[in-house]
Amino acid sequence: PIIPDYLAEVLGQVEPDASGEPASYIPELAAADPERLGAAFATVDGQVHGAGDIDVPFTIQSISKPFAYALALADRGFGPVLAKVGVEPSGEAFNEISLESSTGRPLNPMINAGAITVHSLVAEAGSGPAERVRRVLDGLSAFAGRRLEMDEKVCASEMEHAHRNLAIAHMLRSHDILTEDAGAVVDGYTRQCSVLVTTRDLAMMAATLANHGVNPLSGDQVVPEGVVRQVLSVMFSCGMYDAAGDWTTQVGIPAKSGVAGGLIGALPGRLGIATFSPRLDSHGNSVRGVSLFERFSSDMGLHVMEVP
Ligand code: GLU
Repeated sequence: PIIPDYLAEVLGQVEPDASGEPASYIPELAAADPERLGAAFATVDGQVHGAGDIDVPFTIQSISKPFAYALALADRGFGPVLAKVGVEPSGEAFNEISLESSTGRPLNPMINAGAITVHSLVAEAGSGPAERVRRVLDGLSAFAGRRLEMDEKVCASEMEHAHRNLAIAHMLRSHDILTEDAGAVVDGYTRQCSVLVTTRDLAMMAATLANHGVNPLSGDQVVPEGVVRQVLSVMFSCGMYDAAGDWTTQVGIPAKSGVAGGLIGALPGRLGIATFSPRLDSHGNSVRGVSLFERFSSDMGLHVMEVP
């Protein structure tokens, strides 16, 4: 078994690195076992190869952002979504309180200001908070190819400390970027972040993006192909918080990280990759996850700008 052996070997190499800390601003996340480590590849024909803790559930957090963006684009069309959320890299931290000066739009859908706005744009226009949450849960499940659920404890824990996201949402409301109740949108966005996934699920979700939006297990077209191109482009330029430029040059794979320690990459036409390791670097990216992706990219020549 060439791929599992390779994965086990690379995991063994990054395993001793205990640098970084699990996210602490959500008390429930700080309690996570920092030793967990897993990596999985899902091919566009639906095979999963993995090593380590690939079936341990954790919350998706910011990795939900590209998928919710895909759902909003599919549900509302490009015009209404682009009118409210831009596609420019911000070079700033994920929770920066920043909006484009001329329009009041968040710069991109991968920072919180953009992702909170995107949450308000899922499901058909006029939908209420419960319908938006249902649409996100159904949509993320369709990307994963199995029914997902939420971690109510992590969600409640984050809501108790959501002042910064609430501040962002109120600012968006003051600019009429959000037109509904700011508190309800943050509540829904926090539920979106609390969806439980495994490394195996994340690899399959990434493989759905790599496979033109068709889930390799179910065969369902989850979102249209044009939406996938938009999402992967934004992941490539903005997916790794304020380390996006380093990532794009060194690893060169459209990617998204989350503060619970997950990390995904999608290689169009080929592969979805996911890793899990809770200790984070100063940008909020998984330390061992970044090392694993650096290895995968150089060992297998996965940088999308590399001529095969
Ligand atoms: N729920 C987190 C927040 O909005 C997600 C952050 C992340 O994973 O980067 O603060």
